Amino acid sequence: MGSIVLRDLSKTYGGGAIAAVKSVNLEIGDGEFVVFVGPSGCGKSTLLRMIAGLESISGGTVEINGKVVNEVASRNRDIAMVFQNYALYPTMTVRQNIAFALELRKFPQAAIDERVNEAARILDLKDLLDRKPGQLSGGQRQRVAMGRAIVRHPQAFLLDEPLSNLDAKLRVQLRAELGRLHQRLGVTTIHVTHDQVEAMTLGSRVAVFSRGTLQQYDTPQKLYDAPKNLFVAGFIGSPAMNFLEGALGGNADAVQIGAATIRLGAPAAAAQSGRVVVGVRPEHLGWRPWEEVPSGVLTGTVDLVETIEPEAYVTIALDDPSARVRQADEAVSSGTPNGASAVPAAQRVQMRVPARAAPALGQKVALTPDPERIRLFDATGGAAL
Ligand code: ADP
Ligand code: MG
Repeated sequence: MGSIVLRDLSKTYGGGAIAAVKSVNLEIGDGEFVVFVGPSGCGKSTLLRMIAGLESISGGTVEINGKVVNEVASRNRDIAMVFQNYALYPTMTVRQNIAFALELRKFPQAAIDERVNEAARILDLKDLLDRKPGQLSGGQRQRVAMGRAIVRHPQAFLLDEPLSNLDAKLRVQLRAELGRLHQRLGVTTIHVTHDQVEAMTLGSRVAVFSRGTLQQYDTPQKLYDAPKNLFVAGFIGSPAMNFLEGALGGNADAVQIGAATIRLGAPAAAAQSGRVVVGVRPEHLGWRPWEEVPSGVLTGTVDLVETIEPEAYVTIALDDPSARVRQADEAVSSGTPNGASAVPAAQRVQMRVPARAAPALGQKVALTPDPERIRLFDATGGAAL
């Protein structure tokens, strides 16, 4: 079946002026479900189209089942692609849409009927086979697009944002269906999305991209627990990780943030400059009433409490003007609230706590990050220490 290997894969446009994909190395195992995720414009579609053979390759190779396919025409790569807009033929029925690729390949009618009926059963489309796409809901059209891919029994499915045009509820439902479909068919799948929640729920491994470059390729758990750099740390997780500017102490078992000293769970590797970015996820930031704590801790005032039962997202304005909060680079994590806070971004952090354990608006609090969950990054290059 279908393993896919990318070696130094690159794509430039405009005679080299635009580098859309930069030297990507990636291996996708046979039967694996891998997600490519990153902000809009980071090169996901270009990568997928090069794998499918719909886009010429500027450098490097694409291997399918151990064979370089750079020069193999798209129709001979045995790969089925599903696009965001589904690209259904409006004048054909659902049955004709699903059967179309097989008819082009001159399959015998009996084999076509068998495969179309099989796909219709798997995708629950049996009662819709005689309708036209215009008579279907968005979710049903998405299923038809999947049906067209399934009947080909391809080596791999390439799905380019197949859920992005659907409303939130349907998206969650079809996301689960895609997962089940993969378990059932076991076909190698690359699923592209800009939504990190979708990526983290679907992928056995997730490749995170920024500006044409692969940032990290790992299991969802590894991406969450051990992001390799500031970009991944800021992109994965919602609300996004807090990044505080800090300095590493002499024995590296504590960091200085403004006037506060934060103990670390384990001694840190030395940063090049001694300057570090201290990363703490909102769910790893606790608090205590301000009166109870000695000096030398981070303190602040509750600026905003957004309750999304059973949790609350709490925005804290830091008291110490020398404590600086850095903004995540391109951190477009979906669903991050706190847009309503009037406190400058460089002075506020966010906490995610059970709603019943949230501090009150205006309350003075001491922040207690979990030392074991603090992540440090080099302040210059952004690499994890
Ligand atoms: P994504 O799918 O991650 O949103 P794309 O792969 O579509 O990103 O695009 C990656 C980059 O390549 C973008 O900067 C985009 O503007 C550029 N690009 C894509 N297609 C072309 C093209 N045909 N000509 C010039 N630039 C392009
Ligand atoms: Mg795209």
